Amino acid sequence: MAQQGQIIVLPEGALRTTGRDAQRNNILAARVIAEAVRSTLGPRGMDKMLVSDIGDIVITNDGATIVEEMNVEHPAAKMVVEVAKTQDEEVGDGTTTAVVLVGELLTNAEKLLDQGIHPTIIARGYRLAATKAEEILQATAKTIDIKDVKTLKQIAETAMTGKGAESAKDALSDITVKAVRQIAEIENDKIVIDLDNIKVEKKEGGDITDSELIQGVIIDKERVHSGMPKKVENAKIILLDVAIEVKETETDAEISITSPDQLQAFVAQEEKMLKDMVDKIVAAGGNVLICQKGIDDLAQHYLSKAGILAVRRVKKSDMEKLSKATGAAIVTNIKALSKTDVGYAKVVDEVKIGGDEMLFIRDCKNPKSVSLLIRGGTEHVVDEAERAVKDAIGGVAAALQIGKVVAGGGATEMEVARQLRKYAETVGGREQLAVDAFADSLEIIPRTLAESSGMDAIDTLVKLRAEHEKGGLDIGVKVMEGKTGDLWKIGVIEPLKIKTQAIKSASEAAEMILRIDDVIASSKPKMPAMPPGGMGDMGGMGGMGGMGDF
Ligand code: ADP
Ligand code: MG
Repeated sequence: MAQQGQIIVLPEGALRTTGRDAQRNNILAARVIAEAVRSTLGPRGMDKMLVSDIGDIVITNDGATIVEEMNVEHPAAKMVVEVAKTQDEEVGDGTTTAVVLVGELLTNAEKLLDQGIHPTIIARGYRLAATKAEEILQATAKTIDIKDVKTLKQIAETAMTGKGAESAKDALSDITVKAVRQIAEIENDKIVIDLDNIKVEKKEGGDITDSELIQGVIIDKERVHSGMPKKVENAKIILLDVAIEVKETETDAEISITSPDQLQAFVAQEEKMLKDMVDKIVAAGGNVLICQKGIDDLAQHYLSKAGILAVRRVKKSDMEKLSKATGAAIVTNIKALSKTDVGYAKVVDEVKIGGDEMLFIRDCKNPKSVSLLIRGGTEHVVDEAERAVKDAIGGVAAALQIGKVVAGGGATEMEVARQLRKYAETVGGREQLAVDAFADSLEIIPRTLAESSGMDAIDTLVKLRAEHEKGGLDIGVKVMEGKTGDLWKIGVIEPLKIKTQAIKSASEAAEMILRIDDVIASSKPKMPAMPPGGMGDMGGMGGMGGMGDF
C-alpha cells in the first residue's frame, strides 16, 4: 500500500482497503457467515456444535444462536449478525433464512460487479426488488383467524422442525398455541400480543413430553418456613412489595433501656407490630403471600401458624406476571391492604423439579400471563427445546398479529421470484439485471432445502419454476418426502412476517455492504495470527478458498 510522495493522514497501523478490494473483502466475509449457517436450514438441517473459548458447548440449529456464538470480528460479517438479531427480535424465527439470503444476494451481486455493473446500480435494483417483493408477499398471503387452532398448530410445528424437539412436536405445539392465544388481547380490532406475558422456564430432567403449560406463573422459590402448607387449594393470593419486618431505625441509639421491664416492653412492641401485619393479611382473606422483599423470622412463624404459604424476595418481573395472572394488586402498604387486592388461583403448590423446589401458581381465572415449563433429559436437550418453543411462540404470535400466513418449504420464495422476474422486464436498464439477480437469490431457500433432503437442486428448481408458471402458488420442497408438492396441503405454514422481515433486512444489509468502497480500520486486528480483517473464531471452516487472500 505504500506509495511514494504520500501524505500521511492516517495513524500508524491504520489499515485501509479501497475499491474492488474493499468490496470483495466485505462480500466474502458476509458470505462466510451465510455459508456457515446454510446447512442448518430446514427440517433436515444439520446442527452446529459451538465451543466457546472456555469450553462451554452449545449444540443448536438456530441461526441467531449460531451467529451470536461465533464471535465474529469482521465489520461486514458483523452486519450479517445484526440481520439475524433483528430477525430474532422482530419475529423470533426465520433467522437462518435471513442470513442465507444476505449471502446469496451478495454472491449474485458479485457476479454483476464482475460484469462491470456499478455497485450503486445493483443496490438500487435490489431496493426496487425488495419493495416489490413485499408487495407480492402481501398479495399472495392468506389470512388467518385466532380461532383457527389447527393452522396455528401447524405454524408452531413448522417453526419447531429440525430443532431437536421432533419427538414432542405435537405436545409442544399444542401448549405453545394455547399459551399465545391465552395472552392475546384485542385492542381496536387488532390482536396485540406481549410476549413478556409468556414465561418460559426450563428444568432438566424428565422428558420433553413432560413439558407443560401453566395457566399462571412458575417461580423459582420455596416457601420460607417448613411449617407452612406445601399446597394451597382455592388460593387467595396477596402480592406485597414491602418487607414484613420492623424497620431498623437509624435512631436505634436513642432507645435507652434501663430496666428488664422496658426491654420486654420493647420486644413485645416489635412482636406486636409483626403480628399486626400478619393479622392484616389474615383479615384480607389471604392464604398465600408472595413478597418481593424480606419476611422477618418471627413473621414467618406467625404466618406459618396462620396456615399461610409465603415466599419472599421474588423478582419484580415475576410480581408483575403474578398480578396479571391472578388479578391481585401489588400492595405497597400493608395497613391499606383490603379484600379487593387479593388475587386467585385454584392451586398453589411447591413441587420439586430437577432437584429444585419451585412454586406453581396454577389454574388462574383467564390469566393474562402464563408459563411454559420445558423439560428434557439433559441440559443441551432442554436448551434446544427452549429455543424451539421460543421460535414457535414467535411464529404463532407473528401470524396472529399480522393475520397473514404463507406456505413454507421455499414455495413462497419461488412465487416471489417468479413475479419479480416479470416485474424486472418493466424496470429495464441495468437495474433489470439486479432485480433478476434478486429473484435468483430468493431461490437459495428452495435450493438449500432440496439439497438438505438429497434431491437434485437444479432439477428441483426447474420443476418448481414450471409449477409456479402454471399457478401452483404453494408448490415447494416437501423436505421430509424428498419431492416437490403442495406445502400448504401438508401443513407447512409460516407467518407472513418471517418472509417480509427476512427479505427486508437481508436486502438492506446487502445494499449497505455493496455501497462501501473504502474500509479504514484504525487499529490492527487483535489476533496477530489472523489475516487482516480476520474472522475471529472461525477457523476450520472448509471450502472458503481465498480467505487467506484478504
Ligand atoms: P429459520 O432460522 O430460517 O427459521 P429453519 O431451520 O427453521 O430456519 O428452517 C426454516 C425453513 O424450513 C423454512 O423455509 C420452512 O418453510 C422450511 N420448513 C420447515 N418445515 C418444513 C417441512 N416439513 N417441509 C419443508 N420445508 C419445511
Ligand atoms: Mg425456523
